[in-house]
Amino acid sequence: MKLARCYSFNDVRVEDAPPPRIGPGEALVKVSICGVCTGEAMPWYVNRKCPTVLGHEPVGIIQRVGAGVTGFRPGDRVFFHHHTSCGRCVECRRGHRTLCREFHETRLDPGGFSEFVRIPKLNLQKDTLKLPKSVTDERGVLIEPLACSVHAVRRLNLNAGDTVLVIGAGVMGLLNIQAAKLFGARKVLACDLLPERRRAALRYGASAAFAPSLARLRSETAGRGADCVIVGPPRPEALEFGLAAASPGGTVQLFGPMPPGSRTRVEFHDLYFREQSITTSYSCDASDTRAALRLLAAGKIKTRGLITHRFSLGGVGMALKKTFRGSGNFLKAAVYPHRD
Ligand SMILES: [Zn+2]
Ligand SMILES: [Zn+2]
Repeated sequence: MKLARCYSFNDVRVEDAPPPRIGPGEALVKVSICGVCTGEAMPWYVNRKCPTVLGHEPVGIIQRVGAGVTGFRPGDRVFFHHHTSCGRCVECRRGHRTLCREFHETRLDPGGFSEFVRIPKLNLQKDTLKLPKSVTDERGVLIEPLACSVHAVRRLNLNAGDTVLVIGAGVMGLLNIQAAKLFGARKVLACDLLPERRRAALRYGASAAFAPSLARLRSETAGRGADCVIVGPPRPEALEFGLAAASPGGTVQLFGPMPPGSRTRVEFHDLYFREQSITTSYSCDASDTRAALRLLAAGKIKTRGLITHRFSLGGVGMALKKTFRGSGNFLKAAVYPHRD
């Protein structure tokens, strides 16, 4: 079979490899499509994992199942999550399932940018989801990214009536806008430097979209600022803008992972007397992927137009670069491993 292996962010090669062999409780799946994650397409992140086969937003068809597998059979069309959590450890019990040791030890073999993948036993048991007809392959690709948005807005514990500001209106921003509305925000505002993305934010449900400006934000929030701010771009300037944009009692959530060593200045005096919080949201767990699938199956998420670029395995390097650079007409790339 063929797969795309990264040796560095700038060196991705299509290679031949024997298809993975499956054991008891496992499944072999033929990958139909795999999304390119915004949180994965960053040089510092890819380079520390190399050599590796990336891709964790896959949809495929089960080809074979190992001994003892019940509940799945060849022909099933599925999303399969790359990580699972144990549900019993301290982190899981405290609600931080993405910090579970099992979450970091489980993974797909070799990764979604491959013609075939082995779904290990835990991943098959705990977070492989059959797709209903209403969830096409290209919608299924959005399960994992949307699950990250669901994880984020769940962690915000929105109050009915909250105004949420979403900073960054790339594909994740557009999903965060929709998730925030579905989880209780009364009004969602969006900020982006690119005019095309501001227009997209309006199409996907923001009531206003503007270039970062505190004056504009205040005029949209009767002078208060936003009750919650979701900071997408993994850059200190974006976080600083988010802090300035938050209302008294507001929460600022870091959604995109910043590179190691990132520092920013926080005025703790103001933070204290305004009783503001800084929080984070990392990845998603099995309860989030199920919620994402339910929302997609029920037609509650606008997905049309989110995938803007399609590649074969030979295009994975280009797809990563395009995702990293971003641009007005780019939202999300998807890889079709069986296309030439
Ligand atoms: Zn992802
Ligand atoms: Zn655990």
